[in-house]
Amino acid sequence: MTTKAFVIGHPIAHSRSPLIHGTWLVEHGIDGSYEAIDVAPADLPAFFDRLRAGEFAGGNVTIPHKEAVFALCDSVDDLAKTIGAVNTLVVRDGKVHGYNTDYLGFLGNLDAAVPDWNAQQKPALVIGAGGAARAILVALRSRNIPVILVNRTRATADALAGALGGDITLCGLDEINSAAPLAGLVVNTTSIGMHGTRFDDFDLSVLAADALVTDIVYVPLETPLLADARKRGLKVVDGLGMLLHQAVPGFADWFGVRPQVTPALRASIEATLDH
Ligand code: NAP
Repeated sequence: MTTKAFVIGHPIAHSRSPLIHGTWLVEHGIDGSYEAIDVAPADLPAFFDRLRAGEFAGGNVTIPHKEAVFALCDSVDDLAKTIGAVNTLVVRDGKVHGYNTDYLGFLGNLDAAVPDWNAQQKPALVIGAGGAARAILVALRSRNIPVILVNRTRATADALAGALGGDITLCGLDEINSAAPLAGLVVNTTSIGMHGTRFDDFDLSVLAADALVTDIVYVPLETPLLADARKRGLKVVDGLGMLLHQAVPGFADWFGVRPQVTPALRASIEATLDH
């Protein structure tokens, strides 16, 4: 019988996940499917009925459902609870289990691109305090990396640091140039970078020469932040790898094969990024 998986969101047409999973299904010769399904918020409970009835092995969850599915899952693992979002569902014996793989995606991307990225154990400067930042802060904590958290709205960063606890120092976006020299890693988790936007007041010359700069925005693949950092001779890692690596655990659960993030997979997704 064909094993079926999905990504649900609203809207969902932009999702690259069907291409990622479709590539792996072909590569491994698996009798399976992975489809994008537009599910409006009001229709989520009915979609969960289909899951419990055994129509799918599981799937991914994207905006705007990452928080709403909490109440519908039969169990949510502790990490997803800490992050406050579910992006992966696995159906077993008629029960739906929720996970979050964004933090694995973030770490998997850096580990693959720069294996010794944390060798110096310097703090990470994380810009942004939204949903993606939350997963990244949990990821950095799992590697014992202290964080300097910079956000435009101080109250949002305060609330996030208070909720997560651990070694997080807060500072405003207007203080970024005094905090940045301490950083071994700079992570942009805001939507700045899309449509050619950049942090106008962030002076990259204050960064240590061995600092690594990464962006989780991947459209465009080389954001202005990454382009500016590259021009200064800094190491950079783009955000596409995070998207690819976060997909691995779900595929392994649904289809029983742990797939690889290969250069060929990356190239096929890259080719879709400009439209
Ligand atoms: P979110 O929850 O809406 O958070 C957005 C963050 O960006 C907030 O910290 C917000 O600051 C900040 N921000 C927005 N506009 C800004 C501006 N003009 N100047 C300064 N800061 C600004 O969004 P999210 O879910 O965390 O996603 C953020 C980005 O990450 C999106 O572009 C998304 O596509 C990308 N993403 C990529 C991956 C991947 O796999 N590569 C995974 C998840 C998300 P305030 O608190 O001040 O509003």
